[in-house]
Amino acid sequence: MITNDLWCASRPPGTSSHVVIASSASEWEEAFELLMMDILDFPFVGIDCEWLANDLIAEQALQAALEAGYSSTLIDNIEKRRVCLLQLATSQGTCVLVRLCLFDQLPNSLRRLLADEKVWKVGVNTQCDKKQLFGSWTVELESWVDLRHVFKDCESVGLVGPYRSDRELGLNGLSERLLGRVACGNKAAIAKSNWAAVELSAEQTTYAAGDAQIGIDCFIAMCNAVWPDARGQLHTTDICDRFEAHKCRPIAPPSEKAKRRREKTTETSATERPVRDQLAEKAKKIPQLSRNKPHGRPQGSELYYIQTKENRCVVCGSQECLVRKNIVPHEYRRCFSSEHKNHHSHDVVLLCAVCHARTDAVDTELRRQLAERFDAPLCTSRVVVDKQLHMVAKAAKALLSAVDRLPHDRKELLQQAVRKHLEIDDDAPLERHHLLQATAVDYRSENGDFSSHAKVVVERICQQKEQGTHELERIWRDHFLTNMKPQFLPPMWSRDHMKSDC
Ligand SMILES: [Zn+2]
Repeated sequence: MITNDLWCASRPPGTSSHVVIASSASEWEEAFELLMMDILDFPFVGIDCEWLANDLIAEQALQAALEAGYSSTLIDNIEKRRVCLLQLATSQGTCVLVRLCLFDQLPNSLRRLLADEKVWKVGVNTQCDKKQLFGSWTVELESWVDLRHVFKDCESVGLVGPYRSDRELGLNGLSERLLGRVACGNKAAIAKSNWAAVELSAEQTTYAAGDAQIGIDCFIAMCNAVWPDARGQLHTTDICDRFEAHKCRPIAPPSEKAKRRREKTTETSATERPVRDQLAEKAKKIPQLSRNKPHGRPQGSELYYIQTKENRCVVCGSQECLVRKNIVPHEYRRCFSSEHKNHHSHDVVLLCAVCHARTDAVDTELRRQLAERFDAPLCTSRVVVDKQLHMVAKAAKALLSAVDRLPHDRKELLQQAVRKHLEIDDDAPLERHHLLQATAVDYRSENGDFSSHAKVVVERICQQKEQGTHELERIWRDHFLTNMKPQFLPPMWSRDHMKSDC
């Protein structure tokens, strides 16, 4: 059970009292114990996930990871476009940020927690998080609740006032309405930031923790709305009974909802319609994937670009959680000559999260084959890291920041590494300025031989064949057709697209 005004008393609503970042299995195990202490009291957690929002961000993330000489696990997770961050927050204000992108596999205790039907996971658009988690980590999320359902239920029985726009049903809207908390800062920009960065920024941490915390706090606020007189305590079983109907229930796709609301508003007065709705209508008139039309009168395969494409997964037809997919990955296309670079919207299709994850996995295999065929190694980096020097810098950093917490042997070992590098005698004291000097050691240098895998592949295929770029496009398209067997490609989509024109 939970005290009614729990968060009001101990912390401002929507803010965590305690944020823990888990970047490794051992850090997760510690965080898991903290979470479980709270969950045993009140088995409801706020949940949210972050991933790389689009191909461009993914490519930047990949470049950043390669340049930092980062682990192959991180690089692999970026390439597979896996969910990068999972946020879990308890009603008591503990928030754990699990940096999934640094894990090569998920700890079993985390899998069990997500699949545990007795622990409810609340958030907004949680169904999409569930799909993304399954698509990238094949982990089941059970007992999830979309807060928008609970809110509508509260609205229908008059426990909260009627909502006026769909925006109010988003996490920010609910937070404003139920917690009196107005979102600040440019949230949209942070949402589209690099969630696979080697270190998360302070803004990212605050944003990520906030979304999970707001989720659980809004849920408690809704419980309070349902039992306004229960000044004492709410019992878990009451809450479970009351909200059972909301469990694992997806919400209607926003497009239909928006359509209904638009119809309603047009009935009243067009001039009163909010500008946002008008913009949304305008946007709807532009076919989603046909914006890169070539100029002039459409001819031959250019007709492809003026078709209206449907908003559904080209592989399985699902209309939920759609993500754009470049059939010819952008890393290769950007190495094409400029005339070929421009014709790429043909190869941009929509996939659902599950199919997207599947294609990422098979794409890795084709990359490997291309690497072998064209002698173009996948893991080259613009920057070379001197492992020995890197170790010295890390040792000095650890000694500066956590000297009291280090076990004696470990401390000795680290000090020895720094001493050796600075050529200090074993019995001479290691001062703070020595450590600072060692943290500043430059362990990275430019890789003179650097040439990206994609660039080498494009160069070599063009040397071998007259129409090399087309050949590479065809390879990727055939690969997509063979491995994904798409059932819903637009009628004019063709594996030989543009070939005759060039
Ligand atoms: Zn699909």
